[in-house]
Parts: sequence; structure tokens; C-alpha cells
Amino acid sequence: MYKINIDNLEVFAYHGVLKEENALGQKFFISTEITLNNSSTSYNDNIEKSVSYVDICNLIVKVSTGNKFNLIETLAETIAERILLEYYKIKSVKVRVSKPSAPIPLPFGNVSVQVERSWHIVYVSLGSNIGDRQYYLNGAIKTMAENPLCRVIAISDFINTKPVGNVPQDDFLNGCVCVQTLYSPHEFLDFLHSIENKAGRKRTIKWGPRTLDLDIILFDDLILSDGILTIPHAEMANRLFVLEPLIQIAPYVIHPVYKCTALELYNRLK
Ligand code: AMP
Repeated sequence: MYKINIDNLEVFAYHGVLKEENALGQKFFISTEITLNNSSTSYNDNIEKSVSYVDICNLIVKVSTGNKFNLIETLAETIAERILLEYYKIKSVKVRVSKPSAPIPLPFGNVSVQVERSWHIVYVSLGSNIGDRQYYLNGAIKTMAENPLCRVIAISDFINTKPVGNVPQDDFLNGCVCVQTLYSPHEFLDFLHSIENKAGRKRTIKWGPRTLDLDIILFDDLILSDGILTIPHAEMANRLFVLEPLIQIAPYVIHPVYKCTALELYNRLK
């Protein structure tokens, strides 16, 4: 497995909270550690399979000199995001920004911040049982695909399912999509809520009818439960309407709590 490391690229730029820093500028040193999507395979001496470190350096210089940020955290995050957005082959990146001439009135060696950003793989369950159900599901997928921080990788067929629970209501149309995203889990949930709201989703009756329901089923191999989000989705193993579309696009994806594949969960439940 290869990583591309660029150490201490020097740039002269104008980031900082103080007016003098924005006016006079100072030296920054920027280091990156890049992991490619195909990092375990051999490159056969072929540059097409890798990424040019010169191009990455030029991008870092462009972002650093083309902006004036208060915080070096923002600079580090912006560089990381731009690298991930511009190079399809890059899976994750660590960026360290050093500011050796920071305005600290004491003897010191260096000040630096480091961020790590990567594309996450998320499975989203979609459902609708009011109005033009297909229109709502397709609209949600289109909105995800149009967001530069998301890439829709796979889409299941939509299936008609009977409602679960005691509320009398129409049948659902359900599906599942695999999305790569740069969002954190909570940012991604907010994004899904904004799509639901745009579809006129009203949160009235729990388990009741809805124009659009979007749930995070899996987010990498993350296990999380904090009162706002539970990942993997707490009910996914008990819902055929979630598992059936999921196994169509990712039968062998592993549930990180049960340590078994989606297909095994489906077969057990069926
Ligand atoms: P509902 O839209 O009725 O499925 O419920 C949405 C609420 O469930 C959200 O506001 C979240 O706070 C919470 N929730 C917990 N875990 C998840 C998850 N994995 N995906 C989506 N919503 C979740």
C-alpha cells in the first residue's frame, strides 16, 4: 500500500486573525499524506494509476494564496476538501498546516494544525407512501447526486412494500442507495433532513404516512448512538423493506455490530 507524502511545502500567504497578518503575510509550511483508492495494487510504473505530486503542490499553493482565512484550521480543511474533490483516485488525506512565525510573544518552535478528511461510504434507505412515490425517491437521489460533497455509487430497484405497524396507510415504495460523501454523519443527517423537508415531509404521526423518509443504514463501519443518530440504523436487521433493496446493491457489506453480511441478515429475517 502506498501513501504520497509531501512534507513542508512552503507558501507565502495572508492567513491569520490579526490585521498585520492579513496585510504583511508570512510563511506557512504545508504537509499532506494522501491515500489512493487503489492503494493496495501495483501501479506498474504507470503515472495514470497514481496522482502527480506536482499537481497536488500546485493546488495547495492555489488554495493557500487565493484565500485569506482567519484560522489555519480553515486553510487545512479547505485544502483537504479541494484535494478530495479534484482527484477521484484519492480516498483520504491528512493535511498539516504549520505557522512558524505565528504572533506569539514568546520563544517557540512551531504552531500547526492537522485535519484528516476522507470519502465515507454510506447506505441510505428511501421510502415514500404519499403522492407520486417514484418522483419523491428519484428527486432525493438527484439532489444527492447534484451535491458536490456526495457521489451516488449504486441505486437499487424500487420495491412496493406493505406498511409496518398499526397505522392504516397506503403501501410504500422503498429503495436503497450507496453514496460516497465528505460529510460527517451528523452533517449527512442534516442534509437528508433538508431533502425530506423539500419534499414536504411532515413529522406528525410516528410510523405514519410520509412523502419521503431517508434513513442512514450504514456509514463506513461506524458504530454510533448519541441520542440523535444511531448507526447502524437500529431497526435495519428487522426490516425486509430495508434489507431487500440493500442486498441488491451490497449483499456482502458487513454489519459492524452483528459482524455478518447484509445477505445473512436478510436470509435470517426472511
Ligand atoms: P424518521 O424520519 O421518522 O425515520 O426519524 C428521524 C429521526 O430519527 C431523525 O431526526 C434522527 O434524529 C433519528 N435517527 C436516529 N438514527 C437515525 C439514522 N440512522 N438515520 C436517520 N435518522 C436517524
